[in-house]
Amino acid sequence: MNLPEKVFICEVGLRDGLQNEKVMLSTDDKLEILRGFIDAGFPVIEVGSFMHPKKVPQMADTDELFKRIGEIPAGVELRALIPNVRGVQRAVECGCKKVKLNVSASRMHNLKNLNRTPEESVAGFADCVKAAQENNIEISGSISMPFASPWEGRTPIEDVDAIIEAYLKVGINEISLSDASGQAVPNQVYDLCKHVREKYNDASWWLHFHNTRGAAIANILAAMQAGMTRFDASFGGLGGCPFVPGAAGNVSTEDVINMLDEMGIYTGVDVLKVMALSRKVSELLGHGLDSYVLRAGRSKDLIASQAE
Ligand code: ZN
Repeated sequence: MNLPEKVFICEVGLRDGLQNEKVMLSTDDKLEILRGFIDAGFPVIEVGSFMHPKKVPQMADTDELFKRIGEIPAGVELRALIPNVRGVQRAVECGCKKVKLNVSASRMHNLKNLNRTPEESVAGFADCVKAAQENNIEISGSISMPFASPWEGRTPIEDVDAIIEAYLKVGINEISLSDASGQAVPNQVYDLCKHVREKYNDASWWLHFHNTRGAAIANILAAMQAGMTRFDASFGGLGGCPFVPGAAGNVSTEDVINMLDEMGIYTGVDVLKVMALSRKVSELLGHGLDSYVLRAGRSKDLIASQAE
Protein backbone atom coordinates (compact mmCIF):
# COMPACT_ATOMS: atom_id res chain seq x y z
CA MET A 1 0.00 0.00 0.00
CA ASN A 2 1.33 3.43 -0.96
CA LEU A 3 1.49 5.40 2.32
CA PRO A 4 3.40 8.38 3.75
CA GLU A 5 5.95 7.92 6.56
CA LYS A 6 4.84 11.06 8.33
CA VAL A 7 1.52 12.92 8.60
CA PHE A 8 0.76 16.38 10.02
CA ILE A 9 -2.35 16.72 12.15
CA CYS A 10 -4.02 20.05 12.82
CA GLU A 11 -6.20 19.96 15.93
CA VAL A 12 -9.32 21.99 15.11
CA GLY A 13 -11.50 21.21 18.13
CA LEU A 14 -11.07 24.60 19.80
CA ARG A 15 -12.58 26.20 16.68
CA ASP A 16 -14.66 23.78 14.62
CA GLY A 17 -15.69 21.79 17.70
CA LEU A 18 -16.48 24.44 20.28
CA GLN A 19 -18.25 26.79 17.86
CA ASN A 20 -21.06 24.23 17.64
CA GLU A 21 -21.49 23.83 21.42
CA LYS A 22 -24.19 25.48 23.50
CA VAL A 23 -21.98 25.60 26.59
CA MET A 24 -19.37 28.33 26.32
CA LEU A 25 -16.01 27.42 27.84
CA SER A 26 -14.14 30.05 29.82
CA THR A 27 -11.01 31.56 28.32
CA ASP A 28 -9.02 29.96 31.18
CA ASP A 29 -10.33 26.51 30.26
CA LYS A 30 -9.59 27.08 26.57
CA LEU A 31 -6.09 28.26 27.42
CA GLU A 32 -5.45 25.13 29.46
CA ILE A 33 -6.67 22.97 26.56
CA LEU A 34 -4.53 24.92 24.08
CA ARG A 35 -1.44 24.45 26.29
CA GLY A 36 -2.37 20.77 26.51
CA PHE A 37 -2.47 20.48 22.71
CA ILE A 38 0.96 22.09 22.41
CA ASP A 39 2.28 19.68 25.05
CA ALA A 40 0.66 16.70 23.24
CA GLY A 41 2.80 17.49 20.19
CA PHE A 42 0.45 18.90 17.55
CA PRO A 43 2.42 20.75 14.85
CA VAL A 44 -0.64 22.88 13.96
CA ILE A 45 -3.57 24.01 16.12
CA GLU A 46 -6.61 26.00 15.00
CA VAL A 47 -7.20 28.23 18.00
CA GLY A 48 -10.39 30.04 16.99
CA SER A 49 -11.82 32.51 14.52
CA PHE A 50 -12.04 36.25 14.06
CA MET A 51 -15.68 36.20 13.00
CA HIS A 52 -17.98 38.88 14.35
CA PRO A 53 -18.57 38.02 18.03
CA LYS A 54 -22.33 38.40 17.55
CA LYS A 55 -22.26 35.81 14.77
CA VAL A 56 -20.07 33.27 16.58
CA PRO A 57 -20.09 34.18 20.31
CA GLN A 58 -18.17 30.99 21.21
CA MET A 59 -15.13 32.41 19.38
CA ALA A 60 -15.28 35.95 20.81
CA ASP A 61 -12.21 35.37 23.00
CA THR A 62 -9.89 34.17 20.21
CA ASP A 63 -7.89 37.44 20.39
CA GLU A 64 -7.41 36.99 24.13
CA LEU A 65 -6.21 33.39 23.69
CA PHE A 66 -3.50 34.54 21.29
CA LYS A 67 -2.47 37.33 23.63
CA ARG A 68 -2.32 35.06 26.67
CA ILE A 69 -0.62 32.02 25.15
CA GLY A 70 2.67 33.92 24.83
CA GLU A 71 5.81 32.22 23.46
CA ILE A 72 5.14 28.93 21.71
CA PRO A 73 7.74 26.26 20.93
CA ALA A 74 9.46 26.41 17.53
CA GLY A 75 7.72 24.27 14.94
CA VAL A 76 4.24 24.84 16.37
CA GLU A 77 1.81 26.85 14.25
CA LEU A 78 -1.32 28.43 15.69
CA ARG A 79 -3.92 29.52 13.16
CA ALA A 80 -7.30 31.24 13.14
CA LEU A 81 -10.14 31.46 10.66
CA ILE A 82 -10.92 34.92 9.27
CA PRO A 83 -13.92 36.17 7.25
CA ASN A 84 -12.33 39.29 5.72
CA VAL A 85 -9.62 41.94 6.07
CA ARG A 86 -10.87 42.91 9.53
CA GLY A 87 -9.78 39.41 10.56
CA VAL A 88 -6.21 40.15 9.45
CA GLN A 89 -6.26 43.36 11.52
CA ARG A 90 -7.40 41.42 14.58
CA ALA A 91 -4.65 38.85 13.94
CA VAL A 92 -2.04 41.63 13.85
CA GLU A 93 -3.34 43.13 17.09
CA CYS A 94 -3.26 39.90 19.08
CA GLY A 95 -0.10 38.30 17.64
CA CYS A 96 -1.69 35.57 15.50
CA LYS A 97 0.75 34.62 12.73
CA LYS A 98 -1.40 32.41 10.50
CA VAL A 99 -4.92 32.97 9.16
CA LYS A 100 -7.28 30.97 6.97
CA LEU A 101 -10.05 32.15 4.67
CA ASN A 102 -12.97 30.02 3.51
CA VAL A 103 -15.24 29.81 0.51
CA SER A 104 -18.01 27.36 -0.32
CA ALA A 105 -17.61 25.41 -3.56
CA SER A 106 -21.36 25.45 -4.07
CA ARG A 107 -22.17 27.97 -6.80
CA MET A 108 -25.85 27.94 -5.92
CA HIS A 109 -25.16 28.58 -2.23
CA ASN A 110 -22.76 31.43 -3.02
CA LEU A 111 -25.02 33.10 -5.56
CA LYS A 112 -28.04 32.83 -3.28
CA ASN A 113 -26.31 34.08 -0.11
CA LEU A 114 -23.54 36.35 -1.35
CA ASN A 115 -24.72 37.17 -4.87
CA ARG A 116 -21.37 36.17 -6.32
CA THR A 117 -19.64 33.06 -7.59
CA PRO A 118 -17.07 31.29 -5.39
CA GLU A 119 -14.29 32.62 -7.68
CA GLU A 120 -15.56 36.17 -7.21
CA SER A 121 -15.51 35.63 -3.44
CA VAL A 122 -11.90 34.43 -3.63
CA ALA A 123 -10.87 37.36 -5.87
CA GLY A 124 -12.27 39.61 -3.12
CA PHE A 125 -9.71 38.11 -0.69
CA ALA A 126 -6.87 40.01 -2.44
CA ASP A 127 -7.02 42.78 0.21
CA CYS A 128 -6.63 40.14 2.96
CA VAL A 129 -3.53 38.74 1.22
CA LYS A 130 -2.03 42.22 0.89
CA ALA A 131 -2.72 43.08 4.55
CA ALA A 132 -1.33 39.72 5.69
CA GLN A 133 1.86 40.11 3.64
CA GLU A 134 2.42 43.66 4.94
CA ASN A 135 2.24 42.30 8.48
CA ASN A 136 4.23 39.08 8.05
CA ILE A 137 1.19 36.89 8.58
CA GLU A 138 0.87 33.64 6.68
CA ILE A 139 -2.42 33.18 4.87
CA SER A 140 -4.15 30.04 3.64
CA GLY A 141 -7.49 29.26 2.07
CA SER A 142 -10.14 26.62 2.48
CA ILE A 143 -12.73 25.31 0.03
CA SER A 144 -15.72 23.82 1.77
CA MET A 145 -17.74 21.13 0.05
CA PRO A 146 -15.35 20.45 -2.86
CA PHE A 147 -16.62 16.86 -2.99
CA ALA A 148 -20.38 17.37 -2.64
CA SER A 149 -22.82 19.86 -1.17
CA PRO A 150 -26.32 19.52 0.31
CA TRP A 151 -27.63 21.86 -2.38
CA GLU A 152 -26.16 20.46 -5.57
CA GLY A 153 -24.91 16.95 -4.83
CA ARG A 154 -21.50 16.06 -6.31
CA THR A 155 -19.35 19.13 -6.95
CA PRO A 156 -18.04 19.24 -10.56
CA ILE A 157 -14.23 19.03 -10.64
CA GLU A 158 -14.10 22.07 -13.00
CA ASP A 159 -15.76 24.15 -10.26
CA VAL A 160 -13.08 23.09 -7.76
CA ASP A 161 -10.35 23.89 -10.30
CA ALA A 162 -11.79 27.38 -10.87
CA ILE A 163 -11.69 28.12 -7.11
CA ILE A 164 -8.15 26.74 -6.71
CA GLU A 165 -7.03 28.91 -9.63
CA ALA A 166 -8.70 31.95 -8.04
CA TYR A 167 -6.80 31.25 -4.79
CA LEU A 168 -3.49 30.86 -6.60
CA LYS A 169 -4.15 34.08 -8.51
CA VAL A 170 -4.49 36.14 -5.30
CA GLY A 171 -1.31 34.54 -3.95
CA ILE A 172 -2.70 31.83 -1.66
CA ASN A 173 -1.13 28.44 -2.31
CA GLU A 174 -1.90 26.55 0.88
CA ILE A 175 -5.39 25.19 0.35
CA SER A 176 -7.67 23.05 2.49
CA LEU A 177 -10.33 20.81 0.97
CA SER A 178 -13.09 20.66 3.57
CA ASP A 179 -15.88 18.09 3.50
CA ALA A 180 -17.94 20.12 5.96
CA SER A 181 -21.19 18.32 5.13
CA GLY A 182 -19.65 14.84 5.46
CA GLN A 183 -20.69 13.64 2.01
CA ALA A 184 -17.32 12.64 0.54
CA VAL A 185 -16.55 8.99 -0.25
CA PRO A 186 -13.11 7.38 -0.62
CA ASN A 187 -12.85 6.80 -4.37
CA GLN A 188 -13.92 10.38 -5.05
CA VAL A 189 -11.46 11.67 -2.43
CA TYR A 190 -8.65 9.66 -4.03
CA ASP A 191 -9.47 10.98 -7.51
CA LEU A 192 -9.77 14.65 -6.49
CA CYS A 193 -6.61 14.52 -4.34
CA LYS A 194 -4.62 12.92 -7.15
CA HIS A 195 -6.01 15.44 -9.64
CA VAL A 196 -5.15 18.56 -7.60
CA ARG A 197 -1.69 17.29 -6.64
CA GLU A 198 -0.79 16.62 -10.26
CA LYS A 199 -2.38 19.74 -11.72
CA TYR A 200 -1.23 22.26 -9.08
CA ASN A 201 2.10 20.93 -7.88
CA ASP A 202 3.19 24.26 -6.30
CA ALA A 203 0.27 24.22 -3.89
CA SER A 204 0.22 22.52 -0.50
CA TRP A 205 -2.93 20.78 0.68
CA TRP A 206 -4.90 20.11 3.82
CA LEU A 207 -7.85 17.73 4.06
CA HIS A 208 -10.69 18.32 6.50
CA PHE A 209 -13.21 15.53 6.97
CA HIS A 210 -16.37 15.36 9.01
CA ASN A 211 -17.59 11.95 10.10
CA THR A 212 -21.25 12.77 9.45
CA ARG A 213 -21.81 9.49 7.62
CA GLY A 214 -18.96 7.40 9.05
CA ALA A 215 -16.62 7.70 6.05
CA ALA A 216 -14.04 10.13 7.45
CA ILE A 217 -11.33 7.59 8.39
CA ALA A 218 -11.76 5.83 5.05
CA ASN A 219 -11.46 9.20 3.30
CA ILE A 220 -8.23 9.95 5.16
CA LEU A 221 -6.79 6.61 4.03
CA ALA A 222 -7.83 7.34 0.44
CA ALA A 223 -6.27 10.81 0.59
CA MET A 224 -3.00 9.38 2.01
CA GLN A 225 -2.89 6.87 -0.83
CA ALA A 226 -3.17 9.82 -3.21
CA GLY A 227 -0.13 11.38 -1.49
CA MET A 228 -1.78 13.77 0.98
CA THR A 229 -0.07 14.24 4.35
CA ARG A 230 -1.94 17.05 6.17
CA PHE A 231 -5.22 16.42 7.97
CA ASP A 232 -7.50 18.30 10.33
CA ALA A 233 -9.07 16.40 13.22
CA SER A 234 -10.98 17.33 16.34
CA PHE A 235 -10.41 15.92 19.84
CA GLY A 236 -13.24 13.66 20.96
CA GLY A 237 -14.81 14.08 17.50
CA LEU A 238 -16.21 17.45 18.60
CA GLY A 239 -18.03 19.50 16.03
CA GLY A 240 -21.29 19.26 14.23
CA CYS A 241 -22.78 19.67 10.83
CA PRO A 242 -24.81 22.89 10.62
CA PHE A 243 -27.12 21.28 8.04
CA VAL A 244 -27.88 18.09 9.95
CA PRO A 245 -28.92 18.48 13.60
CA GLY A 246 -27.45 15.73 15.78
CA ALA A 247 -24.99 14.59 13.13
CA ALA A 248 -21.53 13.33 14.07
CA GLY A 249 -18.78 15.94 14.11
CA ASN A 250 -15.26 16.16 12.77
CA VAL A 251 -13.23 13.00 12.49
CA SER A 252 -11.93 12.26 15.99
CA THR A 253 -8.26 13.07 16.58
CA GLU A 254 -7.87 10.01 18.82
CA ASP A 255 -9.25 7.69 16.12
CA VAL A 256 -6.93 9.14 13.47
CA ILE A 257 -3.80 9.09 15.66
CA ASN A 258 -4.48 5.58 16.96
CA MET A 259 -4.87 4.30 13.40
CA LEU A 260 -1.73 6.08 12.18
CA ASP A 261 0.28 4.88 15.23
CA GLU A 262 -0.77 1.28 14.54
CA MET A 263 0.10 1.71 10.85
CA GLY A 264 3.58 2.96 11.76
CA ILE A 265 2.94 6.45 10.35
CA TYR A 266 4.56 9.18 12.44
CA THR A 267 2.46 12.12 13.74
CA GLY A 268 4.43 13.23 16.83
CA VAL A 269 1.18 13.48 18.79
CA ASP A 270 0.70 11.66 22.10
CA VAL A 271 -2.82 10.23 21.85
CA LEU A 272 -3.07 9.54 25.61
CA LYS A 273 -2.65 13.26 26.30
CA VAL A 274 -5.36 14.05 23.73
CA MET A 275 -7.69 11.53 25.38
CA ALA A 276 -7.16 13.15 28.78
CA LEU A 277 -8.09 16.55 27.30
CA SER A 278 -11.20 15.08 25.67
CA ARG A 279 -12.34 13.65 29.01
CA LYS A 280 -11.86 17.03 30.62
CA VAL A 281 -13.80 18.88 27.92
CA SER A 282 -16.54 16.25 27.97
CA GLU A 283 -17.05 17.08 31.67
CA LEU A 284 -17.04 20.82 30.99
CA LEU A 285 -19.57 20.47 28.16
CA GLY A 286 -21.75 18.02 30.08
CA HIS A 287 -22.06 15.39 27.37
CA GLY A 288 -20.24 12.38 25.95
CA LEU A 289 -17.99 12.65 22.90
CA ASP A 290 -18.02 10.85 19.60
CA SER A 291 -14.71 9.03 19.44
CA TYR A 292 -14.26 5.26 19.16
CA VAL A 293 -10.79 5.26 20.71
CA LEU A 294 -11.90 7.48 23.60
CA ARG A 295 -14.55 4.86 24.43
CA ALA A 296 -12.58 1.68 23.69
CA GLY A 297 -9.01 2.79 24.51
CA ARG A 298 -5.96 2.28 22.32
CA SER A 299 -5.48 -1.15 20.82
CA LYS A 300 -1.91 -1.25 22.13
CA ASP A 301 -3.21 -1.00 25.71
CA LEU A 302 -5.25 -4.21 25.38
CA ILE A 303 -2.35 -6.61 26.02
CA ALA A 304 -1.36 -4.76 29.18
CA SER A 305 -4.93 -4.78 30.51
CA GLN A 306 -5.36 -8.53 29.71
CA ALA A 307 -2.32 -9.26 31.87
CA GLU A 308 -3.71 -7.48 34.90
ZN1 ZN B 1 -15.36 21.50 9.73
